[in-house]
Amino acid sequence: MNFIEQIVEKDLAEGKNDGRLQTRFPPEPNGYLHIGHAKAICMDFGIASQYGGTCNLRFDDTNPLKEDMEYMDSIKQDIQWLGFQWANEYYASDYFPQLWEFAVRLIKEGRAYVDEQSSEDIAQQKGTPTQPGTESPYRNRPIEESLKLFEQMNSGEIEEGKMVLRAKIDMANPNMHFRDPIIYRVINHPHPRTGTKWKAYPMYDFAHGQSDFFEGVTHSLCTLEFVPHRPLYDLFIDWLKENQDLGDHRPRQYEFNKLNLNYVLLSKRNLLLMVNEGLVDGWDDPRMPTLCGFRRRGYSPEGIRRFVDKIGYTTFDALNDFALLESAVREDLNDRALRVSAVLRPVKLTITNYPEDKVEVMEAVNNPEHPEQGTHPIEFSRHLWIEQDDFMEDAPKKYFRLTPGQEVRLKNAYIIKCEGCVKDSEGNVAEILCTYDPESRSGMPGANRKVKGTIHWLSQAHCLEAEVRLYERLWKVENPRDELSRIREEQQCDTLSAMHQMLNPNSLEVLPKCYVEKHLLECHEAKYLQFQRIGYFTFDTSSTPQHLVFNRTVGLKDSFKK
Ligand code: ATP
Ligand code: MG
Repeated sequence: MNFIEQIVEKDLAEGKNDGRLQTRFPPEPNGYLHIGHAKAICMDFGIASQYGGTCNLRFDDTNPLKEDMEYMDSIKQDIQWLGFQWANEYYASDYFPQLWEFAVRLIKEGRAYVDEQSSEDIAQQKGTPTQPGTESPYRNRPIEESLKLFEQMNSGEIEEGKMVLRAKIDMANPNMHFRDPIIYRVINHPHPRTGTKWKAYPMYDFAHGQSDFFEGVTHSLCTLEFVPHRPLYDLFIDWLKENQDLGDHRPRQYEFNKLNLNYVLLSKRNLLLMVNEGLVDGWDDPRMPTLCGFRRRGYSPEGIRRFVDKIGYTTFDALNDFALLESAVREDLNDRALRVSAVLRPVKLTITNYPEDKVEVMEAVNNPEHPEQGTHPIEFSRHLWIEQDDFMEDAPKKYFRLTPGQEVRLKNAYIIKCEGCVKDSEGNVAEILCTYDPESRSGMPGANRKVKGTIHWLSQAHCLEAEVRLYERLWKVENPRDELSRIREEQQCDTLSAMHQMLNPNSLEVLPKCYVEKHLLECHEAKYLQFQRIGYFTFDTSSTPQHLVFNRTVGLKDSFKK
């Protein structure tokens, strides 16, 4: 049991909030969800369903400059893809009227004031954790003046940045968030939902806790960076409830550790930059750590959830190994993937004693983990494709694949013996010559003869051409987030040029001319494939029957070397 489950069990047992459990997932619609959000989603939705509570989706849409309907749609799609469904869909912007009322009340109570200083001045007066801040010259202005100016902040009369509303708390408090935090600012930009109705917008700290309160959230789960915000979260709810008959319910904030993965850069701000600057091919580029990127790459939602289960929830930050995510996905895909044959780097193989016109139909098992899923047919003939590296002219002792004089089994077919090869004018192997043993077909009595190697193949006349895209990690460095700040600091450069220095130039390899089984035309709806002996693959979203395109999801074994 993780520590959040313990808290929830205890709260339910003690009958807090009348024994109700209500959580929310509160994304800001300023980008697509990434794998870090998956960790929060699994917690918010998972714990609610585990203990018979409800989880709502709430868009934290309080900054119209960065937010967009496109993002809202994608967020909903990604949550559902992960396998979760919200009870209600809420928007922080629906609470703008209540938040406004509350702010006006605070001004009237002498607990908030309009500050006309620049944001630089305000920042300078903040002090440091060990030194108290300086009070604003506007701190004690008449209440009537603040009320009038706050109205103006919302009517379009005040330019952005000229005025803010601040809570009057304590400029000497050791918690910096108590040093008269800004609670409203002017943004002269239409909001995707409220249009131009508002010009003054609440800050995160003034919107989040109150939104939780208005909705009846009991457990407000978030990540560790919000620990220092919690006292302010509680204070605003205390103020909100003060002298008002709002019941004895109150939300409580609990924090768990963020997901950090090596070789991966999260944070929507960075991901947006990468998309806008063309470092990747959109939000769903299979190298992106977004949920839509992983989906396009062929990750299963169950594999991602399996990974989240493995890493768990704690109260200290860590850097998780990407290999752990890959192994969780591999375990899941092993159970789901349809097995097919594909030859990515083809070379011709001719079986010289197999009749020219003969075609046999072999049986290929769909998934050995699920024999009940049966088999599909695959044609065999004299002219085959095999992988280039399944042949070696001068092979070392332990090489169990094709080399002159050696036998191997062709998967689901015959044992063949390598007789030699034909080379082109440049000395490259152009064709491998073999003979087959007609008694050795899989399933025949002679088939039991032991040979050390088994390789896959495709019949040249019975396969399809395809493009295959192989992906490696996008970043060369183990901790791109820290490295990004280090380079920026050291070279005094912008984020983009720092990013360029960290990019792995080999993150995408396109193999334009591969071959796959014809059977794949009949299973375009199959989401998860295993190209036998190679790895897990999926149809790319751009794939058509005329131009097949596959993405490598993950290799068969851990090849994630540092
Ligand atoms: P980013 O910095 O990537 O933009 P964010 O925290 O600003 O992320 P929000 O849309 O505000 O993104 O986050 C919605 C929820 O997802 C929050 O509760 C937040 O704590 C959680 N979350 C964001 N990133 C991670 C992460 N890496 N690991 C776990 N939870 C995360
Ligand atoms: Mg954010």
